[in-house]
Amino acid sequence: MKKINFGAGPCILPQSVFELAAEAVIDFDQLGLSILEISHRSQAFIDVMEEARSLVLELMDLDVSTHTALFLHGGASQQFAMVPYNFLNKTAAYIDTGVWSQKAISEAKKVGRVETIASSKENGYKSVPTDIPIKGTYDYVHLTSNNTIYGTQFDAFPSFADIPVIADMSSDILSRPRTYTAFDLIYAGAQKNIGPAGTTLVVIKNDFLSHLNALDRFKFLDYSAHIKAESMLNTPTVFSIYTSLLNLRWIKQRGLAAIFSENQQKASLLYKTLDKTEWILPFAEPSSRSSMNVTFTIPDASHAALFDSYCKKYDLHGLKGHRLVGGYRASLYNALSLSSVKILTDVIDEVNTHV
Ligand SMILES: *Cc1c(COP(=O)(O)O)cnc(C)c1O
Repeated sequence: MKKINFGAGPCILPQSVFELAAEAVIDFDQLGLSILEISHRSQAFIDVMEEARSLVLELMDLDVSTHTALFLHGGASQQFAMVPYNFLNKTAAYIDTGVWSQKAISEAKKVGRVETIASSKENGYKSVPTDIPIKGTYDYVHLTSNNTIYGTQFDAFPSFADIPVIADMSSDILSRPRTYTAFDLIYAGAQKNIGPAGTTLVVIKNDFLSHLNALDRFKFLDYSAHIKAESMLNTPTVFSIYTSLLNLRWIKQRGLAAIFSENQQKASLLYKTLDKTEWILPFAEPSSRSSMNVTFTIPDASHAALFDSYCKKYDLHGLKGHRLVGGYRASLYNALSLSSVKILTDVIDEVNTHV
């Protein structure tokens, strides 16, 4: 029995993507070879890489003449280090919205000066800062667009004048149409909305490369080396990139506008249900609520136990909150349907008749 997966990552992908990926494991493109055994230098895989790199830009409404997409290793976590290692000269500005941005800050501090220009620490990361003062000059400002653990999200982005903007968009990339041109570098671990774990998407504005610092960098941690090698500096994560391509094709076929509209319906249905349910406490402040990760707690242990047992009965999986914050988290990534969210809200309503 296929479960409904609300897990935060690695996460649900469209069933058709799972099926096509499974086919390719047995026989890729009728080559008589598995995707797991073909050479990354074969024309078949070069075509996959090229299509994935250009399709991602197309979906972000970016032009290949102004932006470059890379599929790297190391997860978003490696980008926490690579961003400052490549672009921190004097001082970088960071916005602290919780665990992931703190990890980015702590890596950047190993490279140079960091100023945390805004933080929502004081209210326990229940919201994202809205009023962000920018005084002075910075090499870049770094923010996390969606806070996977706390369930908060920037709906609109603050303006930072002419300071380059770098964003960790791991958990909400390609979940909505967005003005991606406002960013100089975007990165995202694939395993939340793009594909399986293993590859990390990096999109760089070509002009921003003139801001590279003067370090003599390790080649593998150097964006320009990866760009020069067309994202094949060494063996790429072939299967992860191929499966990501399958998912990018699925996104294109459905259209980002249609996906966004369903994502909004999913989030609004769930938040509405949480708000009217007395034994549930939504975590994030309404103004900062994430459409991707919906966080809540059930303070009464007996209510929680009842809710857990109903989730089990209806095969709802992955609702446990992050180990650092506890509680519950329902992740509503692109591949999770409105009807799946409806099953969760029905479960909440059913538990409600028993409390
Ligand atoms: C999951 C996540 C990360 C970490 O990703 P890895 O690929 O596991 O390194 C970083 N930032 C955000 C916002 C995340 O959701």
